[in-house]
Amino acid sequence: MKHTILWGMAVALALTLLTANTEKAFDYKLSPKKVSTNLWCFFGAIEKPTKENAGNMVNTCYVKTKDGYLVLDTGPSYQYALQAYNVMSKIEKLPVKYVINTHEHDDHWLGNNFYKKEFNATLIGPESINSEYQEGVPTRMHAILPKSAIKDTHIVKLDKTINKRFSLELGGEKFDIIPIEIKAHTDNDIIVYMPERKILFAGDLVMNGRITSGRDGSVMGQIKALEMMEKLAWDIMIPGHGFIVDKTAMDESKLYFKLLKSRVLEAIENDVEATEINEVVILKEFKDKAMYEILNPRNVSSAFDELEMLE
Ligand SMILES: [Zn+2]
Repeated sequence: MKHTILWGMAVALALTLLTANTEKAFDYKLSPKKVSTNLWCFFGAIEKPTKENAGNMVNTCYVKTKDGYLVLDTGPSYQYALQAYNVMSKIEKLPVKYVINTHEHDDHWLGNNFYKKEFNATLIGPESINSEYQEGVPTRMHAILPKSAIKDTHIVKLDKTINKRFSLELGGEKFDIIPIEIKAHTDNDIIVYMPERKILFAGDLVMNGRITSGRDGSVMGQIKALEMMEKLAWDIMIPGHGFIVDKTAMDESKLYFKLLKSRVLEAIENDVEATEINEVVILKEFKDKAMYEILNPRNVSSAFDELEMLE
């Protein structure tokens, strides 16, 4: 009798383990868009991360060189990165040599451990990914994504952190990795510039079709960062979120931060209080952009806090 119970328990345990391991992964249904010669990007939805989109609301890119791929941002999970590579390998099955992360927001880099495990790729990004995140401590994506998407995602340390401009060559392509050095979208933004190809990867300093999330940023810093990018010669710009990649890619961001700054400053001059700022500053020009309702009031409030201190 005792044996039967023990056997029953053992079988139940084995079945639990088995189903846990074979649980079907979330299907991201990823499909890359060819943006230019040897450049493909996965464009995520312009919405917030949800259980339904499993964090597929961010842009990630592959640059093909004769010595392998360089990947810019790795998406919100191991499963996302694995599935992105699987589709890319149908275009050409090349190893991924380098990964560059544009900033510490975890929708941009939680796919890193796939590239480390599969290719021992060199992971490059801001120091804060190493100092602020630890394996075992859940991040924002861990809380939002379904288990079938976040499973196998682990936090791995970056191999190289960037605090000053650094150039990299892979298979004849040159990449300038440029830290912004002031607080803009975050205090650790990095842009990646391919001077010969006139391609600029802007990270979340640029978004289009949606309202930006300024929760870790600065209006004044954003304006400066956009001015810096304006000085670089580029024909293609990849935003961190959004679909526009041509010469007009940063127009929305430029206008948004310009209006945000001038209207909030005007309100401060008119002695508008923090509690009333969202009644006064509306930015109606952006009303039809995705996430306006959630993010715009927050951006206005944090702009108020920041600009009030300037006086
Ligand atoms: Zn971000």
